[in-house]
Amino acid sequence: MSARILVVDDVPANVKLLEARLSAEYFDVMTASNGTEALAICRRAECDIILLDVMMPDMDGFEVCRRLKTDPATHHIPVVMVTALDSPADRNRGLEAGADDFLTKPVSDVVLIARVRSLTRLKMMTDELRMRAITSLEIGMQAPERSAVADTGKGGRILLVDDRESSYERLATILAAEHTIDVEPNPTEALFHAAEGNYDLLIVSLDLNNFDGLRLCSQARSLERTRHVPILAIADPENSTRLLRGLEIGVNDYLLRPIDKTELLARARTQIRRRRYTDHLRDNVQNSIEMAITDALTGLHNRRYMESHLATLAEQAAIRGKPLALMILDIDYFKSINDNYGHDAGDDVLREFAVRVRKSIRGIDLACRYGGEEFVIVMPETDLHVAGMVAERLRRAIAGEPFAIHKGTKRIEVTISIGLTTLERKGEAVADVLKRADTALYRAKHDGRNRVVSQAA
Ligand code: GH3
Ligand code: MG
Ligand code: MG
Repeated sequence: MSARILVVDDVPANVKLLEARLSAEYFDVMTASNGTEALAICRRAECDIILLDVMMPDMDGFEVCRRLKTDPATHHIPVVMVTALDSPADRNRGLEAGADDFLTKPVSDVVLIARVRSLTRLKMMTDELRMRAITSLEIGMQAPERSAVADTGKGGRILLVDDRESSYERLATILAAEHTIDVEPNPTEALFHAAEGNYDLLIVSLDLNNFDGLRLCSQARSLERTRHVPILAIADPENSTRLLRGLEIGVNDYLLRPIDKTELLARARTQIRRRRYTDHLRDNVQNSIEMAITDALTGLHNRRYMESHLATLAEQAAIRGKPLALMILDIDYFKSINDNYGHDAGDDVLREFAVRVRKSIRGIDLACRYGGEEFVIVMPETDLHVAGMVAERLRRAIAGEPFAIHKGTKRIEVTISIGLTTLERKGEAVADVLKRADTALYRAKHDGRNRVVSQAA
């Protein structure tokens, strides 16, 4: 993993210094001597992280940062402000501009490398998600960039883990101005609390009595429910070396006591905004996975999914010596529904058909749209006799109640034919099972339709 770091500074000596240290740690370093150049490099997506000098002629670092963070193409690139100014007012100006972190000149090696490593990890993870989410954009999902750039970072749910009353009362009061905040003074309860609460941010004190706050951070990172929740650590200055350890194990950001109010709020907003953005990306990826396995018209699984999952179900059934039933359902004279009432009416029938199918089967049964008006239902742990009863119930659920078409203004009779079979006990190729069910279906059609025909293995 070789991250590309862009160092921006108008003083060549400063550039050289940072470049040498980062190169020694095997980072790829690019350089720019002014804001305009830096923005161009970022827009071409050539760098992973930016170390940005604050005081530059023409455009200062705050302005560069603000532009990066308001551009959908660059808002996700972590920005570290490198500054000789270290007053709270300056830090806050940077945070308001959207900076992810600060380094104070002269920059300490350890802190520099720890920050860059931790931001690199974050950037890599986000990039991976962005890449996968591109597919979901192509199939029409909302771009997360737009809402990310507009997100104020306010209105988050925060869990504060701190056992000093004077400290947590003050922090909670500050944060409550912009967020919903829960306080957990008992560190042994904190992980449980965090996992239950669906939080956007965990703030963890590293100065707990008889408890290692870093252990809590590391546990939160390994637990499924809290893995993606950002962590902001707070510590007394004498505990600052532990903060570096924290960054290594996945703490996202930190603050030293005494805590500046504006800085706390700004850092919380940055983390919450990032959390929402990656969540959005993750949702898009999840949705595109669902779209890839779902039939859009009926919401049932599609053929591709059924074929691969059926193989797994057949294997399991054979190993456990359990029966597995499979039926193919085909709507009778569907072509004439289209011909007589129009294609939209045909679609209405298909949708309503899927609704009735879903109502008639169990959660563990797998229903899919196999082709135009052909469906397959796979029923684990079901023998031919029971499956025959389910098939008959399905047939009645369709034939027994007319289907509404043309926005409910007309109702038409629909029937289906079903071919049913089971997997051979000792196991059998999935294609052979499907073939047998198809033969049974053919007989049902041939014998007059609106009926179930079973074919034992
Ligand atoms: P049979 O009783 O023998 O099954 O006759 P059928 O008319 O149902 O069978 P056939 O296979 O001849 O016709 C199926 C029709 O289903 C043809 C096709 O245009 C239509 N069809 C396939 N997919 C869709 C769809 O998504 N929407 C609609 N409205 N029609 C579809
Ligand atoms: Mg048909
Ligand atoms: Mg057909």
